Amino acid sequence: MTSTMENTRAEQSGATREVHVAVIGSGFAGLGMAIQLRKQGIEDFVVLERGDDVGGTWRDNSYPGAACDVQSNLYSFSFAPNPDWPRTYSEQPEIFAYLRGIADRYELRDKHVFGAEVTAATWDDAARRWDVETTAGAFRAKVLVSGAGALADPSYPDIPGIETFAGTVMHTARWDHEHDLAGERVAVIGTGASAIQVVPAIQPRVGSIAVYQRTPPWVIPRGDRPTTPFERALYRRFPAVQKAVRGALYAGREFLVLGMAKNRRLLAPVQKLARTHLERQVRDPQLRAAVTPDYTIGCKRILISNDWYPAVSAPNAEVVTAGIAEIRPHSVVTRDGVERPTDTLVLATGFHVTDLPIAHRITGRDGRTLAQVWDEGMVTNRGSAVAGFPNLFLLVGPNVGVGHTSMVYMIESQVAYVGEALRAMAVEGLATLETTPAAQEAYRELIAQRSAGTVWLGGGCGSWYLDRHGHNTTLWPDFTFLFRRLTRELDRENYTGTPERETAGVAA
Ligand SMILES: Cc1cc2nc3c(=O)[nH]c(=O)nc-3n(C[C@H](O)[C@H](O)[C@H](O)COP(=O)(O)OP(=O)(O)OC[C@H]3O[C@@H](n4cnc5c(N)ncnc54)[C@H](O)[C@@H]3O)c2cc1C
Repeated sequence: MTSTMENTRAEQSGATREVHVAVIGSGFAGLGMAIQLRKQGIEDFVVLERGDDVGGTWRDNSYPGAACDVQSNLYSFSFAPNPDWPRTYSEQPEIFAYLRGIADRYELRDKHVFGAEVTAATWDDAARRWDVETTAGAFRAKVLVSGAGALADPSYPDIPGIETFAGTVMHTARWDHEHDLAGERVAVIGTGASAIQVVPAIQPRVGSIAVYQRTPPWVIPRGDRPTTPFERALYRRFPAVQKAVRGALYAGREFLVLGMAKNRRLLAPVQKLARTHLERQVRDPQLRAAVTPDYTIGCKRILISNDWYPAVSAPNAEVVTAGIAEIRPHSVVTRDGVERPTDTLVLATGFHVTDLPIAHRITGRDGRTLAQVWDEGMVTNRGSAVAGFPNLFLLVGPNVGVGHTSMVYMIESQVAYVGEALRAMAVEGLATLETTPAAQEAYRELIAQRSAGTVWLGGGCGSWYLDRHGHNTTLWPDFTFLFRRLTRELDRENYTGTPERETAGVAA
């Protein structure tokens, strides 16, 4: 409320609001950062969120069937376990409610300015401050932390004629709940993580559903079930039990790294599990052939579902592999010349991951944006800092993504790292802290070395994990506990700092 009022005042007066730290985004990353700031006694901060609520991914992805694919006991903050998850893998409404609960519990709403889309953030080298322009007014911050999300900006396919489509078009991340799909002829474009959740959820009530597939995913069974009252009571009474379960889930998932990053042959049993799952659920040989991947499991994200294959095998469903040639006002035409009348297009086409929109909006010391600096590939120190961008920290930046376990683990590692950086700035009385090009180069080398031989580079698929140069710039290519070890303390030797006194009289 306070922030909204201050924001309105700032807007009306055109005044710039000064803060110590400005955080962009309020998903798991932004909220985690805000909690860390509070923990360190930093109260002079603001969270700039373009949406009208906290939650990020879990506010925006409300399509039917949306759910996490990492167990909730692991896909949640370590310091805020929820004994009351209704299922082992929670659905979007519960995760969204969890994050809203976090915002309330840590009294973070007052720190937010909602409806504040950051349109530009520019480093003012003379004043040693970030000038942050938003749709809800201007801010000036000593430190800028971006938690703008790697899967936050929907990617729309560039298909000839798509703009002429006369029916309803919706991206899974922007679901139109007012639109009734009952009895409609629906085209779903894409077969990734969102598609395999939305298709089974809508297939029973649509007239027909055509799933346009470029590459089939590997799918393994989803060990999901409702939690029992006993379990929930146990977790509430003995939090250590839930912590132990979380630990076991974490350890089990790290085993996958052995196959993905160390020795691909270890993935053979997982691939066998997926193949058996497919053969058990898909009887029709033609459909089987169409949905069988030709690359090593793990190269693209491994998907989990018990109802994907039954849904695409249903009499009103079809998997179309011919490739889309064009979209007409009332149909989708594939390269084999077949035209399928269509009422609604569901775009399950993912997000801008290797071309992050926020990177075009952040301008560093030499007047270049992050996107320009990253034109030849995204480089950072520890996924968190970039040379030429003092006092900027990235959460879920390049090479922080994971496909096999919880992103929240990575986010907590990074949030603690940024906390350490802020502590160093306070203790040393620094006006600026900036990583060095040499540190960045060394980190790029480390990522390249660890990515070599992994299934993501050598598994025989193209994926959003790789940039247009074929480099892994999205995934952390090793055990996640090694990332935590790397970010536990600030690698102070990899940063230069300017003492506050050298800028006295300059800084605002
Ligand atoms: C459907 C779906 C399912 C997923 N399931 C899992 C899972 O099971 N396990 C897992 O580990 N990960 C999963 N993920 C990945 C998920 O994105 C991360 O786990 C995590 O939620 C990312 O949090 P974040 O805070 O970094 O980003 P987000 O949650 O995306 O939050 C970013 C926030 O920044 C805001 N923002 C962006 N740009 C601006 C701007 N310019 N100005 C102001 N605000 C801005 C956005 O509005 C958003 O609120 C899933 C992702 C999707 C899309």
